[in-house]
Amino acid sequence: MAYDFDLFVIGAGSGGVRAARFAAGFGAKVAVAESRYLGGTCVNVGCVPKKLLVYGAHVADELEQAAGFGWTLEEGHFDWGTLIANKNREIERLNGIYRNLLVNSGVTLLQGHAHLTGANEVEVDGQRYTAEHILIATGGWPQVPDIPGKELAITSNEAFYLKDLPRRVLVVGGGYIAVEFAGIFQGLGAATTLLYRGDLFLRGFDGSVRTHLKEELEKRGLDLQFNADIQRIDKLEDGSLKATLKDGRELVTDCVFYATGRRPMLDNLGLENTGVELDARGYIRVDQQYQTTAPSILAIGDVIGRVQLTPVALAEGMAVARRLFKPEQYRPVDYQNIPTAVFSQPPIGTVGLTEEQALEAGHKVQVFESRFRAMKLTLTDIQEKTLMKLVVDAETDKVLGCHMVGPDAGEIIQGLGVALKAGATKQQFDETIGVHPTAAEEFVTMRTVTR
Ligand code: FAD
Ligand code: NDP
Repeated sequence: MAYDFDLFVIGAGSGGVRAARFAAGFGAKVAVAESRYLGGTCVNVGCVPKKLLVYGAHVADELEQAAGFGWTLEEGHFDWGTLIANKNREIERLNGIYRNLLVNSGVTLLQGHAHLTGANEVEVDGQRYTAEHILIATGGWPQVPDIPGKELAITSNEAFYLKDLPRRVLVVGGGYIAVEFAGIFQGLGAATTLLYRGDLFLRGFDGSVRTHLKEELEKRGLDLQFNADIQRIDKLEDGSLKATLKDGRELVTDCVFYATGRRPMLDNLGLENTGVELDARGYIRVDQQYQTTAPSILAIGDVIGRVQLTPVALAEGMAVARRLFKPEQYRPVDYQNIPTAVFSQPPIGTVGLTEEQALEAGHKVQVFESRFRAMKLTLTDIQEKTLMKLVVDAETDKVLGCHMVGPDAGEIIQGLGVALKAGATKQQFDETIGVHPTAAEEFVTMRTVTR
């Protein structure tokens, strides 16, 4: 049967655009449908605008440190409207770049919501298209628990477009987004409280990292409340919000920001017209090659709920394009040792096993840990400490994990990701000459076993 397209991609986000462009580059006839914004979550309401706001909040640190270096500054004033307008302009520029990338690579771009009408058929704006392969790359959406007053809360989607910076913010959650936005709001001047339902936030990260970040955030005056959860939210007469906690306490604020995870975006997608099944957590079930239970339909990125990071969606998109249209170049995605950063203030950078995971996996573990005050702070009164940690297999000397909390952690950990991918040993770390004077050199000069 002749199809309209070789590949029909639903969603022009990180994974969808990558798959579409490369498939078209390999000679396939490709269409992409996008209902909301080119570039998806990452470009519009994720990584990019988030990092711009993090930079904005970080300026406060630089201003605080300036006096130690002899600078006298007049009292600063921050204008949220300017930051948001400049951010919006940059996002629009990126939207245009994504459009050009797709169109110039020969992809047919369809603006509208895509609805599956069969295993080889998609409807966009009343028009039906057939395709030999369909790729679902529809991403995710913020998930807010079903409590009375949830409609009074915002999520990351709305936070990027707030008209004013709230004077007081309650951030709910203990994952990436909660910790990053708590730093943004507080850095920009809002009195910020972070509520997390468990004993300590960032579950799944290395224990030393979690404790260290907690201590550093408290030093900065962030109000951290663990074992705390909201039962209901009410609007008060003066327009402020009252959050009643499960333990009966009441907190009054101007903004309740929920960052309690994301669900797969499957709204009105028409999966019922296909043989696509979901897994136990509600994400699209795929095999090792991203094929769903309907053989002509594949899925990648956040909607399969594996690792919800842009570089992973990109790698999956590339793998699908190659497998379908350039099989001789196909290589499976390596999910081991994925480096990642949390852009908190200070940030976290991490790659490989945590100490807890290494012990659980049966390794005999050696831990090298260092805490120090960064050189840049020695001329200031700021007492922030940087943490660096190596988790090593005592038997093979292989470095299993590298973890850091401190300035530029994301930048530093990328290089260490290459070292771990190459299977570096602690001895090879030791034999690597440091770059002096940097904080990063500590990763190759830690000699004494901490544990
Ligand atoms: P998406 O990028 O979400 O793209 C899906 C696209 O599909 C969207 O454009 C959507 O409009 C479209 N769509 C959905 N349904 C339909 C339909 N039926 N028809 C047509 N179009 C449809 N990751 C990092 O690596 N680093 C970070 O710093 C980082 N920061 C983040 C900060 C925030 C606040 C958030 C929310 C996420 C962040 N992420 C970060 C995660 C990252 O954004 C995602 O992992 C990534 O965008 C997933 O890509 P995707 O292609 O799966 O989906
Ligand atoms: P996460 O899954 O990282 O964290 C969700 C948090 O909300 C957890 O602390 C969880 O607690 C808590 N939670 C979940 N349900 C409830 C509930 N019903 N009530 C109270 N608390 C709840 O999700 P995020 O929304 O922070 O981010 C989504 C994903 O996006 C991340 O996992 C990451 O993959 C990606 N991302 C990446 C970034 C980066 O690379 N820098 C930045 C931002 C997002 P518990 O731990 O107890 O389950």
